[in-house]
Amino acid sequence: MIPYVDEFRDGELARSLAGKIANEVDPARTYRFMEFCGGHTHAISRYGLEDLLPSNIELIHGPGCPVCVLPIGRVDDAISLSKHAIVASYADMMRVPGSNSMSLIKAKAAGADVRMVYSAKDAIEIAKKNPHREVVFFAIGFETTTPPTALVAREAKALKLDNFSIFCNHVLTPPALSGILDAPGVPLEGIIGPSHVSAVIGLKPYAYVAEKHRIPMVIAGFEPLDVMQSVLMLVRQVNRGEAKIDNEYTRAVTQEGNLRAQALMEEVFELRETFEWRGLGHLPKSARKMKAEYADFDAELRFDIKTRQVSDHKACECGAILRGLKRPHECRVFGTACTPDNPLGSCMVSSEGACAAHYSFGRYRTT
Ligand code: SF4
Repeated sequence: MIPYVDEFRDGELARSLAGKIANEVDPARTYRFMEFCGGHTHAISRYGLEDLLPSNIELIHGPGCPVCVLPIGRVDDAISLSKHAIVASYADMMRVPGSNSMSLIKAKAAGADVRMVYSAKDAIEIAKKNPHREVVFFAIGFETTTPPTALVAREAKALKLDNFSIFCNHVLTPPALSGILDAPGVPLEGIIGPSHVSAVIGLKPYAYVAEKHRIPMVIAGFEPLDVMQSVLMLVRQVNRGEAKIDNEYTRAVTQEGNLRAQALMEEVFELRETFEWRGLGHLPKSARKMKAEYADFDAELRFDIKTRQVSDHKACECGAILRGLKRPHECRVFGTACTPDNPLGSCMVSSEGACAAHYSFGRYRTT
């Protein structure tokens, strides 16, 4: 048994929580809860959690999949970089389609030196072993993966590694949530908030969700019982007319978060004025870039990257799915022209993508 994992997958406890939820929901109202994270989407699909919930609880997918939200222009930039440098990328990014259905993995097949890495540390090791080649780390992710990128930036600076740079695409959770809540869209009664991100940033940055939008939020772990417990906590807040930031994931998340990780991010990165998100458009102060002190390791400066804005594939509904306006099976090419083997959009690539999660667990397969 894996400590702190198997306990949170217990079927009996899940049924018991489902019973409590069924007893406490008001049949006269609808509860629309957005799960922000792809990790939650994955757990909900994999464990069939929607089947355990009353029909008046609707779970709506949010934009919390870092691979999914990166716009095509940034994918194109990484593919262009692979013509000049070794590009080190997390596995999920390798298959995300850019313009003309090109991807990093297709660039690799055509001869580019693109390497799959498990961590930022792997990328800097490639640079150390290849001192006569340029090596670019294609850095993506929310606040969970940002501190490790900051660490390798610091290491590169300390070692004066002149062949290593970072193509920084790190994004922030609170502005994305604001982008959803400020836009006209799906009315929400609650939000299931990200756990790993919150272990870094804490609970304070979400205060506006309760104060400005009067929407309850529960930070929840990624195991099925975490999700069920967070749904129960949201139902209780809604029934009591409350709007506060609750913490289900107390085994890792605190009010303050990880102060050392926050300081590390502050040391290396600063906020961009604006950044384009797939589906959400340009959001102010929603992404990070390298600070001037780390300019020597900024791939955007070193390779003079000028990102182009590129529209999604005409048939792809990723934008609407990431905003919670549509569900994967409402895309007309879901499971037919678009599958995990042949993804047309980013939401079908990563296991955290809503389309891939729905497809992989066979719950909405159309073929
Ligand atoms: S099924 Fe494919 S094309 Fe449709 S929204 Fe999902 S990723 Fe885009």
